Amino acid sequence: MRKRLIVSAASAVALLLAVPASAAQTGPGAAGAGDAYYPTYGNGGYDVSHYDIRLKYQPATDELEGTTTILATATQNLSRFNLDFALDVKQVLVNGRVARFAATGEQELEITPDRPLAKGAQATVVVRYAGIPSKVKRYGFTAWLRSPDGGVAAGEPESAWWWFPSNDHPTDKATFDVSVLVPDGSQVISNGVLTGQTSQAGWTRFSWRENKPQATYLATLAVGRFDISTDTTPSGLPVYNAYSKDLGENADAARASVERTGELVDWLSGYFGEYPFSSVGGYVPNVTAGYGLETQTRIFYGPRQFARGANTSVVVHELAHQWYGDSVSVQRWSDIWLNEGFARYAQFLWSEHENEGTAQEIADYVYAAHPADDPFWTVKPGDPGADNQFSGAVYDRGAVAIQALRNTVGEDAFFRILKGWPAERKYGNATIQQFQAYAERVSGRQLGDLLTTWLFTAGKPALNSAGVPGTAAASVAKVQTQPQEPKSWKAIQQTNTVHEAH
Ligand SMILES: [Zn+2]
Repeated sequence: MRKRLIVSAASAVALLLAVPASAAQTGPGAAGAGDAYYPTYGNGGYDVSHYDIRLKYQPATDELEGTTTILATATQNLSRFNLDFALDVKQVLVNGRVARFAATGEQELEITPDRPLAKGAQATVVVRYAGIPSKVKRYGFTAWLRSPDGGVAAGEPESAWWWFPSNDHPTDKATFDVSVLVPDGSQVISNGVLTGQTSQAGWTRFSWRENKPQATYLATLAVGRFDISTDTTPSGLPVYNAYSKDLGENADAARASVERTGELVDWLSGYFGEYPFSSVGGYVPNVTAGYGLETQTRIFYGPRQFARGANTSVVVHELAHQWYGDSVSVQRWSDIWLNEGFARYAQFLWSEHENEGTAQEIADYVYAAHPADDPFWTVKPGDPGADNQFSGAVYDRGAVAIQALRNTVGEDAFFRILKGWPAERKYGNATIQQFQAYAERVSGRQLGDLLTTWLFTAGKPALNSAGVPGTAAASVAKVQTQPQEPKSWKAIQQTNTVHEAH
């Protein structure tokens, strides 16, 4: 996903001034999580363990009202703390007592509890709110997608602000209960397992539960009129897929792709190890957005992903993220290669499996397709900058880097790394440096030069020159003569050619 924000120097300075007070003192929590790409995203001073989001939504008017209850633990003595949120807040309670609050900046909700929170103390924060999320713009956009029959929250790195208050950074994961009341005839899709569906007086309440740690940007909500398809994978995992009733000529191609979720998630388990969550599936709402997003257990697919026919490649990409991105999440947004490089590489593996081009052939093709003066090579996948976080180079150069790693450490070590890493960091966060240390430990090789060249240096890496490991020696002659486009290439590219700003 896709969209760049310009974070002003002024807001970065404001953040620096809001450094947390030392543990012994009582002071305000930081207004940001300390992420250089998005200084005001997330907050400091507490750690959330659970979100209980209870909403009422009117599809005809886009009116949303609700109450979110947050269970958090103070990590310092707190006189005040922030949540990230954009809708109008009516009331805030902290541990049952009315708290003062103020909306500041673009998406900060400053909360001053009646009594300071002691370090280590648990707090229950209740926020009551209402709004029309499609009309609320922050940094010039709304991440809330409207469909003729409802609305959808699915965006990276920000989408939570338009439907629940949160500590909006991947480092603060939590479990989720999402319960939404909608008029009879509409359905609600969210993460995890549907635990309840009851109707009364013309309204139906749908209750969803994600019982494994989930980053806030991976929480999703869709209200609309869907055809539902449920099943279990060959390995016994519950599958829940949903398709808007109004997908038109994309309807069959969407089903021919997303209905293969069970088969594909089991296939990916062979590479990445046991699937980390309790359910799996995807949904295709009737929105104009063209991207897909790896929302945890319930993947968002824009209908245009299927405009050229069935696209199993995008399903493989988003499912790969369940291990690389969702279970193991970025520590900082600059670590995005750990998500997108590996999800793209999973598409290479699927192409290889389908005899539509080996991973090496695709890597050679990407390498040859971009001459040395192509701006493609100016993006460093290991630190692309917020503006280029979802640039095609993060995906394609990032995946070629993984092929270079495979050629360097050999097949056996490579596939042990691919499968071992998600287990090593399950439900946590990680940096590229931590991945490097892990890969070095498993392979017994020093990988600093390789990763510096492929991830952290602008410019087209030389192939197999001294000290610069490239793709396989055998492929060098071939890449000099423009390799043929692999059969899988158009489907692979479609995953990111539809990236767009909101
Ligand atoms: Zn992706």
